[in-house]
Amino acid sequence: MIIVMRGDVTADSAAVQDVVRLAERYPGVKTQVRSIEGATRSLTEVYLLGSTATVPSEPFEEMTGVERAIRIRAKYRAIGRHEGAAEAIGFVYNGVEFSQNTFHVMPGLCAVDTPKNVEEMFRALKSFGIQTTRAGAYKPRTSPYEFQGHGKSCLPYLFEYAGKYDIRVIAMEVTHESHVLEILDALEMSGQATGVMLQIGTRNAQNFELLKMVGQQERLPVLFKRGMGITLDESLNACEYIASSGNHRIVFCLRGMKTNLGDPHRNFVDFAQVPVLRRLTRLPVCVDPSHSVGKRFVGDDGLLDIHHVAAQGVIAGANGVLVDFHPHPEEALCDGPQALLLTELEHFVRDLELVRKAYLERTELARNLLPRADA
Ligand code: PEP
Ligand code: MN
Repeated sequence: MIIVMRGDVTADSAAVQDVVRLAERYPGVKTQVRSIEGATRSLTEVYLLGSTATVPSEPFEEMTGVERAIRIRAKYRAIGRHEGAAEAIGFVYNGVEFSQNTFHVMPGLCAVDTPKNVEEMFRALKSFGIQTTRAGAYKPRTSPYEFQGHGKSCLPYLFEYAGKYDIRVIAMEVTHESHVLEILDALEMSGQATGVMLQIGTRNAQNFELLKMVGQQERLPVLFKRGMGITLDESLNACEYIASSGNHRIVFCLRGMKTNLGDPHRNFVDFAQVPVLRRLTRLPVCVDPSHSVGKRFVGDDGLLDIHHVAAQGVIAGANGVLVDFHPHPEEALCDGPQALLLTELEHFVRDLELVRKAYLERTELARNLLPRADA
């Protein structure tokens, strides 16, 4: 059960202590108090863990400071919506709001290669007012002989250019605690010139120690990429590892499934699951058309397959699009063949603006025309 406190009630207040005391009177029940910095408000929630099946909700609902008591399903305790009872609150990081109501395009380099390419990329983003990007410094590659990323040596110039071009959030994959420490150090050295969202790559979707580690730190939010060969349920449980360790600031990213059934695409596009994620969880949902499609296939309608699948995610309500761009793909040290060119940035962004607008109009139509349960 989750006891949601009223907006003005803080975690250290007497009202929360009363709830904890009452809850722990029931045998086998333990509590955990969580403060969630939401996009529109902060929330304090008391989680009742253990044998809560016979604990009644009414005594809690009658207490001062309590907004409501939500009986949760056994699944997805921390990230779940619980049949719509829990709000999808989202979060604000470094001035940027991420929630199920917001939309951000995150175009950027698959891997950082040279300072010149970083600067060209960020300059282009600034010209379109884009403050969210991606940039890999630690690249876990299939072969040990392939480029593994520049690691911490590229962070100083990456963050400096980010500050110069008003980039506020960089999604960056990490595979080890030392990477997080190096990022935090470099951010500090840069005078917090920008922000980093820690990316958990598909290959590490069930690296439970890594998930707990990024969950135990609360400085940086997490962009979790769905495991390529596991069920959605298993990926959601992986996010539970992050959230139950303390960090609720998670964006869930679909990136396609590994199977030849999706050929010629690199992965089988799974963006039909955007609405499923929005319904089951409180998390903002992002899609990655680049790692799904894997190549610059183009149709005679002038649109690339990457445009089409990105649009499929956005028309279904995705809150973000993580996409590979490169000023000179032939120079890219990783995933050049799937990178879009900076000259294609305006088209990509405007195309998705159209689709996002259509999605919002669809939701409006649904609100206006769907028969209401109480009508
Ligand atoms: C990436 O985004 O650079 C990446 C490696 O993605 P994934 O983990 O989805 O393969
Ligand atoms: Mn890549």
